[in-house]
Amino acid sequence: MSDHLLSKENLMWRDRARKLAMEHIRPVAAEYDTKQEYPWPIAKAMAEAELLKVWIPREYGGDAGETPVLNLCLVVEEISRACGGIGVGFAVNALGSFPIILGGTDEQKQKYLPDIATGKRFIAFCLSEKTAGSDAGGMKTVATKDGDDWVINGEKKWTTNGGVADIYTVFAVTDPNSRSRRISALVVEKEMEGFSIGKIEDKMGIRAIPVTETLFDNVRVPAGNLLGGREGAGFKQAMQTLDHARPGVAAQALGLAQGAVDLALHWACRRIQFGGPISAKGQIQAKLADMQSKVSAARYLVYACARNIDAHAKNIGLLAAQAKLFATNMAMEVTTEAVQIFGGYGFMKDYPIEKYMRDAKITQIYEGTNEVQRLVVARNMIKAVGELDYLKPYCPMPWED
Ligand SMILES: Cc1cc2nc3c(=O)[nH]c(=O)nc-3n(C[C@H](O)[C@H](O)[C@H](O)COP(=O)(O)OP(=O)(O)OC[C@H]3O[C@@H](n4cnc5c(N)ncnc54)[C@H](O)[C@@H]3O)c2cc1C
Repeated sequence: MSDHLLSKENLMWRDRARKLAMEHIRPVAAEYDTKQEYPWPIAKAMAEAELLKVWIPREYGGDAGETPVLNLCLVVEEISRACGGIGVGFAVNALGSFPIILGGTDEQKQKYLPDIATGKRFIAFCLSEKTAGSDAGGMKTVATKDGDDWVINGEKKWTTNGGVADIYTVFAVTDPNSRSRRISALVVEKEMEGFSIGKIEDKMGIRAIPVTETLFDNVRVPAGNLLGGREGAGFKQAMQTLDHARPGVAAQALGLAQGAVDLALHWACRRIQFGGPISAKGQIQAKLADMQSKVSAARYLVYACARNIDAHAKNIGLLAAQAKLFATNMAMEVTTEAVQIFGGYGFMKDYPIEKYMRDAKITQIYEGTNEVQRLVVARNMIKAVGELDYLKPYCPMPWED
């Protein structure tokens, strides 16, 4: 995208993240992927560069300016261009803190957000369970009232940054008899008795950051940690959070795809076959042109979606679903083509490109699978079909008068 379409503030965040990614992330991305180990020195560098302030309001210790969601996307894109795993390890702090920003009480914001902004404490998001993925509302983890406290029991699956995070936004059933107000959100701190980390997953991609089970065995949480003080609002809070966070996954995909194009282009211009660089071959040029055009198209969509969220537009769920669906499918296609351009070398772990393809896959699955995003988009389209009534005279139904 032309820099002219980004504000000074946008460019400041993008360039700060780009510099950090170049200096600190790219040189060690392969090492952390192989070791499957959390990159603490990089997390420290991100905190020192004040990148965790990008989505947090200034009154709570952050530095969110005019367009926090767009700025967040720019930062996630740049980090993911160097490493998709570290990109999501950063972005999940936004996913974990959006429930507090969007639905927390002032006291909860004062208590948690300043520490997240400085990187003193990290935060994660616990919605999914073994038997409740796409159907998150079917969760079984419960929180029961006991005096002034809530007591949580259950297991969460696939908590990104589990064990690394100090704070967890946890969704639990508080009223099993209600249909619409069944679930509440609670803020859990890792020191609370009964909280522990279960299985640490061995993953195909995003291997630099842990994804774990999080276990709750009679975890006693003070009433003040019920998000927004609102019992039964948890499902709505979770969905609002995902609408705000999905452009971040789209930006992760965008960064991965751009990183893969950069590598493929660089390779194609130096790989000699039949006496010249493969970049001189029409088929390779067509691939490169298609890849970059798809990345650019996704970039316009993701940035426009983020800007709409920042402008408090209506129906951001539809925009976020489209951005996530398009950018993540694009990233899978583009990273796969990039491996193809590398030929046999692309299949080898000696080269960085296969990691891009592995990292891209998860973006089609988490924060709502792409099948579910299609459902959201299609339902919105069908709901608004009345707006197309002007087409009636042009396509009469033979069985209607
Ligand atoms: C690496 C990783 C990190 C994650 N991080 C987090 C995290 O930090 N916090 C968190 O809460 N969760 C996290 N998740 C969970 C993630 O959001 C879920 O995996 C995802 O929502 C899908 O749920 P599922 O895996 O149970 O798949 P399922 O819901 O079982 O879906 C299986 C397949 O069926 C399809 N399907 C399901 N329902 C429908 C439908 N109605 N119509 C059409 N197709 C359908 C799906 O699209 C998919 O293809 C993470 C997952 C992974 C793998």
